[in-house]
Amino acid sequence: MLELSHRLDGFQESTIRKMTRISNQYGAINLSQGFPDFAPPPEILEELQRAAIEGPHQYAITWGAQDFREALAEKQERFMGLKLDPNENIVVTCGSTEAMMTAMMSICERGDKVAIFSPFYENYAADTILCGAQPIYIPLKPPTFDFDREALEDAFKAGAKALVLCNPSNPIGKVFTREELLDIAKIVEKYDAYVITDEVYEHIVYAPHKHTYFASLPEMFERTISCSSLSKTYSITGWRLGYVIAPKEIINQCKKVHDFLTVGAAAPLQRAAIVGLKFGDDYYNELTRMYTEKRELFLNGLDQIGLRYFKPEGAYYVMVDISEFGIASDNEFAEKLIKEVGVAGVPGSSFFKEDVNQYIRLHYAKKPQTLEKALEKLQHIRKHF
Ligand code: GLN
Repeated sequence: MLELSHRLDGFQESTIRKMTRISNQYGAINLSQGFPDFAPPPEILEELQRAAIEGPHQYAITWGAQDFREALAEKQERFMGLKLDPNENIVVTCGSTEAMMTAMMSICERGDKVAIFSPFYENYAADTILCGAQPIYIPLKPPTFDFDREALEDAFKAGAKALVLCNPSNPIGKVFTREELLDIAKIVEKYDAYVITDEVYEHIVYAPHKHTYFASLPEMFERTISCSSLSKTYSITGWRLGYVIAPKEIINQCKKVHDFLTVGAAAPLQRAAIVGLKFGDDYYNELTRMYTEKRELFLNGLDQIGLRYFKPEGAYYVMVDISEFGIASDNEFAEKLIKEVGVAGVPGSSFFKEDVNQYIRLHYAKKPQTLEKALEKLQHIRKHF
């Protein structure tokens, strides 16, 4: 066989997606890949029905339907506190996954370096490597997942051109404080670097924590490429509606990458999702309330079982400490958890650059009944390990 590209050497199937696959195979309760098992808001679904009959069924403008971008600009202006031009500051992408890749390809070249906090969502390293760039990792140290300012500065001294900032963070649920973000801002300014954010959990933050958009910090808009999506906010992860928000010069680059990569996000889904973008504050308050309740239900359950974990400040993941089981491989632990206990999680090692083997990530974006069933199963965990 003719030689294939070496670009993917060292890549494996995404662990998160693999766990979903194995979970489905064994009929386990899937708390691995983060997506809800409850319905999106009915208003969005009603509009989807109308879109099915009336269209559009052909391509939208490559960087997003005009009315979608206008509604998104208005919504994000409201939350980010920034003035956004729907024509100049936004590209609509196929999920935040494409947004991140588009952002990375728009600013990075072969040989560049990208700083990534570890633990991290596994796509960031893959995106970096696919761009021909090289990741530099900065540890977030448990139990507070604080970072060392010097270690961050060292990454830029070593030539990092950009920092990937997932806030609220997947997988640890850290919500960066304004002070932490201002420290990051100082450093990126000093080294004249970019920040690529992943803010898909922007609306899933637990009191008293508050989300601060990096782009909204003084002087930071010009060097921030904000990536996010509608997936988690409106419970529509399968719709693949994401976006990049950035200054015009960066967006012009992103428009080209996106156009050649995917042409555009699904037109009828953009139409239906506009309804969500126009929701008032009540919707977001209710979303917070719902996830706060889920967090309480799930964490109380873990407490009763006696499992240790890091309490998430945002997003809907919880890193459970499995060191008490004395297992050498969290991958084996995760497979056994699916096959014998009937609950799927993600081996923590897939998120860490460091050699860390003692965590399993579970998520609680599920109906209360599903979470209760999973907790019932987890009650018997010690019989199996
Ligand atoms: N962000 C989700 C998670 O971490 C999954 C996203 C995906 O698989 N595209 O589980």
